[in-house]
Amino acid sequence: MLLMNQTTPTQEDSGVVLIVLDGCRPDGIIRAQTPNLDWIMANGACHLKARTILPSLTFPCHLSMFYGVKPHRNGIFGNYSAHIKTTCHHSILDLAHMCGRKVAALYDWEQFRELSAPTVLDFAYYRRANIDKGASIAIARECANYIEIEKPGLCFLNLGTIDTVGHDQGWMSDAYISQIGFIDEALGIIIERMKAADLLDRYYILVLADHGGIEKNHGGDTDEEMSIPWMITGPRIKCGYEITKEVMVYDTAPTIANLLQLPFQGIWQGKVITEIFE
Ligand SMILES: [Zn+2]
Repeated sequence: MLLMNQTTPTQEDSGVVLIVLDGCRPDGIIRAQTPNLDWIMANGACHLKARTILPSLTFPCHLSMFYGVKPHRNGIFGNYSAHIKTTCHHSILDLAHMCGRKVAALYDWEQFRELSAPTVLDFAYYRRANIDKGASIAIARECANYIEIEKPGLCFLNLGTIDTVGHDQGWMSDAYISQIGFIDEALGIIIERMKAADLLDRYYILVLADHGGIEKNHGGDTDEEMSIPWMITGPRIKCGYEITKEVMVYDTAPTIANLLQLPFQGIWQGKVITEIFE
């Protein structure tokens, strides 16, 4: 049971920045140069063996992350757009909006527009994934600008090029490891701007991957495809803490709801990761 205390941000001024590193394996983070992810882990709680769902594909994994359920509940098992079974069922973006929070999404794969209902987003930014360094830096800068100026309740950012390089050169190839390091630099832009704007005492930064990969693909149930990093820093979060209990990708929506004091949804199959709190 979590109790409010004087250092807990109020619902109105706390926020969550949810960053998904598409296709990023935890052992890739360990091998790459990642000073910014290292900073999050040193100043937060992390699990480097969290689990995603089957099929370990981008769209179904994101649906589980955002809707708090396993794939059979939303009926999407592939990377295709379809009518998600949304009766009495809201994504975490929808829920934050319904509770009066400002909501933003920035992404480089256009299908992510399906992660919220029409009229929910206060801000959306799309730019096609491109391994050219400029594109990821541009989206990170846009994200940092938006957070600093608009101070959203929930801001989702997907960075897709680690996955792109995995498909092209292979998971855990030198190019893949370098791309993790490069995306870490993009993350640093956001963290530094939030630090400079004094936002880190009221914002949570939650970073995870949707799935891993093996050779040049993903979708199966190997450990390489199913293991994902899941890490968080922010007020009330333990520092330098390794989460010991199981973390599933669909625990993300309930945990964000807890951080933003949004109502728990009965349909959720995920749980709040309470172990992260001091
Ligand atoms: Zn992929």
